[in-house]
Amino acid sequence: MSKNFKFKEHTLTLIPLRGLAVFPYMVLHFDVGREKSINALEEAMVEEQLIFLTSQKEAEIDIPTTEDFYHVGTICKIKQMLKLPGDTIRVLVEGVSRAKIKEIIDEEPYFRAILEEAEYEQDDERDKETEALMRSVMDAFEEYVNTGNKITPEVLLTLSDIEEPSRFADTVASNMSLKPKQKQELLEIFDPKERLETIYAILLEEIEILEIEKTISLRVKKQVNRLQKEYYLREQLKAIQKELGEDEETLDEIEEYKEKLQKLKINKDVKEKIGKEIKRLSSMSSSSAESAVIRNYVDTFFSLPWNKESKDKLDIIEAQKILDEDHFGLEKVKERILEYLSIRKLAKSMKGPILCFVGPPGVGKTSIAKSVARAMNRKFVRVSLGGVRDEAEIRGHRRTYVGAIPGRIINAMKEVKTKNPVFLFDEIDKMASDFRGDPASAMLEVLDPEQNKEFTDHYMEIPFDLSKVLFITTANSLSTIPGPLRDRMEIIELSGYTEVEKLEIAKRHLVPKQIKEHNLEEGFVKMSDGTILDVITHYTRESGVRTLERTLGRLCRKAAKKYVEDPKLKQVRITSSNLEKYLGKHRFTYQKANEHPQVGIVTGLAWTPVGGDTLSIEVALMKGTGKLVLTGQLGDVMKESAQTGLSFIRSKVEELGLDEEFHKNTDIHIHIPEGAIPKDGPSAGITMATAVISALTGIAVRSDVAMTGEITLRGRVLPIGGLKEKTLAAHRAGIKKILVPKENEKDLDEIPQNIKKDLELVIVENMDEVMEHALVKKEEDKNEG
Ligand code: ADP
Repeated sequence: MSKNFKFKEHTLTLIPLRGLAVFPYMVLHFDVGREKSINALEEAMVEEQLIFLTSQKEAEIDIPTTEDFYHVGTICKIKQMLKLPGDTIRVLVEGVSRAKIKEIIDEEPYFRAILEEAEYEQDDERDKETEALMRSVMDAFEEYVNTGNKITPEVLLTLSDIEEPSRFADTVASNMSLKPKQKQELLEIFDPKERLETIYAILLEEIEILEIEKTISLRVKKQVNRLQKEYYLREQLKAIQKELGEDEETLDEIEEYKEKLQKLKINKDVKEKIGKEIKRLSSMSSSSAESAVIRNYVDTFFSLPWNKESKDKLDIIEAQKILDEDHFGLEKVKERILEYLSIRKLAKSMKGPILCFVGPPGVGKTSIAKSVARAMNRKFVRVSLGGVRDEAEIRGHRRTYVGAIPGRIINAMKEVKTKNPVFLFDEIDKMASDFRGDPASAMLEVLDPEQNKEFTDHYMEIPFDLSKVLFITTANSLSTIPGPLRDRMEIIELSGYTEVEKLEIAKRHLVPKQIKEHNLEEGFVKMSDGTILDVITHYTRESGVRTLERTLGRLCRKAAKKYVEDPKLKQVRITSSNLEKYLGKHRFTYQKANEHPQVGIVTGLAWTPVGGDTLSIEVALMKGTGKLVLTGQLGDVMKESAQTGLSFIRSKVEELGLDEEFHKNTDIHIHIPEGAIPKDGPSAGITMATAVISALTGIAVRSDVAMTGEITLRGRVLPIGGLKEKTLAAHRAGIKKILVPKENEKDLDEIPQNIKKDLELVIVENMDEVMEHALVKKEEDKNEG
């Protein structure tokens, strides 16, 4: 090898480089900052602008000694120097030739060494081996470049132009990314051929490594790709599921449903059916209309109290206390309720009867039902049947209908959340039936203990057990409740209250309640009994206490207003004399009994839905052809009743001492004033007959007597209804004596004692007795006259 080159000596300054190596022919710039190096540079510039560059063995050493750098390096030509801020100099150098330190001659102020520079003999005849090697290196380098090294294609072009093996080898080496150790290794090989071989070996190794790197990166990439693909597919799946209604929320929801269903202790068939619905839901888009319908259905199903029950309290004494606490009077009702509870206590499973509270509005039917719930520790729910004419309202619509919903019963159960509430059907007498089906027959099923165990709503389509429910119904009158329905129920009548009872109710319940509701202090509104009575008689006309409660509420509001105006106020006194200031003029006045006996005028008694009332029947006789005229809002029954009375009188002409021909030459006009309220019913029979007899005979009728009763052709007096209310009305009007049909004798118990005290109740069986008591005796007549 030595035949190719020889050494030439040189003395040059030296700079150890950190982390860098320069090959001959290579152009490179680097920054110089160390003082020693700067000194070396300056010295070099003075000389031939040549400098020896070598690498430090370890880049970290700041002040290297001669041992710390390699002794083979490159002689370089300094091409440019640039002063940078902060005592740094940027130098551009070009490698000239490799050299070896022979001897270090100076160390301060810079390194200076005697070098042996390799000089190549231009070898014209490159041996074949070298040629082959160069080609191999070229090929390998090309491959090296191609396998992904960032080397510009120009380098390949320049390389192909280089003829000298040494320069070729160095150019390749300077373009490879090599470790400092490798670089140094190559620098130290002076023989070009040997150097080429080493480069070739490195290249092959590098290529192999690159190859491996490539497969690794491919594999990694594939993996990444797979992950990416998976991610993408998942996203897509999500989108599809969402479209199908299976977004996560829905899936969660469905899971929740399934779990709930699992936990629910319920009949297997029902479970299966609901399971199916849930499954259907899961295969549907959550935004579709149908899924909304199913979700609604399933929600309704889960919101029903399938197994939830409140624990009954069956303490009779406690119950009595609660009932008394909430309501004044109503003894019959309370007693029946307590009986019911006692039986319950003895035989838990016994089906109780269905109670039906019948009575005018405002007598406490609803509120006592609520008290029953309170006394039994049950929940309370109320459904009004007033005006219901469609069976579907009770039993629901089939789900095939758009917007179908469950019926009122299932809805109420959903709301009340226990399966054993006290369930009040209000106004069961106000149901109507028409082409849309018969709600009453649906009610029959609901109220039948045999059938309501499996009450099936059209919407739900699955049976719900209503057998634990305590049903109570209310009605204003019995006559409009369909027979079969009435037979299912135990009727408990609540009649209207007397004024005295109303006073007690007001004092004990309504006034305190209203004061509380209006956030006033107890005792802030002061009213005497007389004042309350005035409110009752002049501002209300009702059997119950609803208007009374409202009116008392109005008084409380007025009082509250006064308090707001003057917060120092301790009490508002309401008296009979200032009542009109608060409530306005009296709204009702009552017909008082006539002061003197009169001919042809009789006081009758009528029952209206708002309680009893007195009615004054007047008869006038005129010469005519025997016509009977009736005026004053009378129903057909009333007219027939008048006719019957008249026939009875004609059959008794002789006994009564009447003109035989009166039916031919006299017109009879019967009028019942205050005709705004329609009056019907036969109970004015004896009253009209008495008025006609009085008119025909000219005998006056006692003004303090009132009567009620139906009349037969034979003059028998038949019983009537609503005796209590009628008696109360008579009492209010100042009547002293009431004629009561014999068959109504049993109802006398209902009449409050304090009323009986003021009134004389006379039992009558026939018209003779009626006349006996009603007509003024001849002597009396004289006395009065
Ligand atoms: P109904 O259902 O018979 O029409 P409510 O139950 O609605 O009557 O009663 C109307 C109001 O009168 C309620 O506030 C109720 O508490 C009250 N009330 C009725 N009767 C009594 C009573 N005997 N004792 C106490 N308050 C009563």
